[in-house]
Amino acid sequence: MKMTPDIQAWEEEDITRIRISMAPPLRWVNSYVLRGPEGITIVDPGPHTETTEAEWTAAWRELGIVPQDIVAVVLTHHHPDHYGLAGYIQSLTGAPVYMSHRAHEETLRMWGKDSVMGEELPRLYRLHGMPSLWSDQLEEHLDGFIPQVTPSPQITYVTEGSYVLMGGRKWRAIESAGHAPGHLSFYDIERGLMLCGDAVLPQISPNVSLLPGSDPQPLRSFLDSLVKLGAYDVRLAFPGHRNPFSHFAERTKALISHHEERLSHIESLLQISPQSGFEVCTALFGNELGIHQMRFAMSEALAHLVHLVDQGRIAAEAPIAEDGVVLFTPLK
Ligand SMILES: [Zn+2]
Ligand SMILES: [Zn+2]
Repeated sequence: MKMTPDIQAWEEEDITRIRISMAPPLRWVNSYVLRGPEGITIVDPGPHTETTEAEWTAAWRELGIVPQDIVAVVLTHHHPDHYGLAGYIQSLTGAPVYMSHRAHEETLRMWGKDSVMGEELPRLYRLHGMPSLWSDQLEEHLDGFIPQVTPSPQITYVTEGSYVLMGGRKWRAIESAGHAPGHLSFYDIERGLMLCGDAVLPQISPNVSLLPGSDPQPLRSFLDSLVKLGAYDVRLAFPGHRNPFSHFAERTKALISHHEERLSHIESLLQISPQSGFEVCTALFGNELGIHQMRFAMSEALAHLVHLVDQGRIAAEAPIAEDGVVLFTPLK
């Protein structure tokens, strides 16, 4: 079967987007190709599957690119839908793969040979009331991502405030957190362009997850990051999902309001009766979700709950029994 690549060019900005397939509900990730005198840079190549390999082969053919033209792969963050193909493309091209040190740590936490996520995540969720019907599926579910991120690339670190040459221009790396630790956005000050990965998305609220061993206050990190990113003068933002958009600062403010409303909503739920993290999760998101969506929902609910505890707005009561469950309670 001949694959038709899904390519769109923003010619004035010299940025080409390739839509690369991924699992629902997002359906595609935006990979960006920037062409400059230094060669071709690919930002966030997508997850590694047979389909995405074929999509890239078709895209390169269409764009007149041979693998030797690719001089860099730049990653905004470690999630499989962005990082996954980096090692595969490096194996074809020998190109360096750039990401932040903190983001690389997260790849090791999730998929490194010493990863304990498959045991620690179900343990965390059980402590917060998730029934075994769900928590027993987690380890296999997490293992299912390994092919999408294999082979793992050699990483060259990018630090906050440094500049990365892409498409013949210098892009400033801006580190943020909350959606993913060590997330980098890239800003072209001259043209007001921001490659923002999943740090700010149009239409979608980027997932904010509490995960064992990672950022203990991801929602606080996310809200702080939105304030930081919202201060940049952005004419056009190129996100990891959906379409490029111009209302960047306004979108950061809308996302802050969305989370403030959700925090107040959770507080009011707990005023009715103390609840476990899982009860709050299903009150917010329902319990008809598949395991993938349930993981995002549960970690997002927990991110909000630990933020409310941190702010002194609610309390967390540790379980008395050994196999008991943490209950979140109102303070007054
Ligand atoms: Zn992401
Ligand atoms: Zn993503």
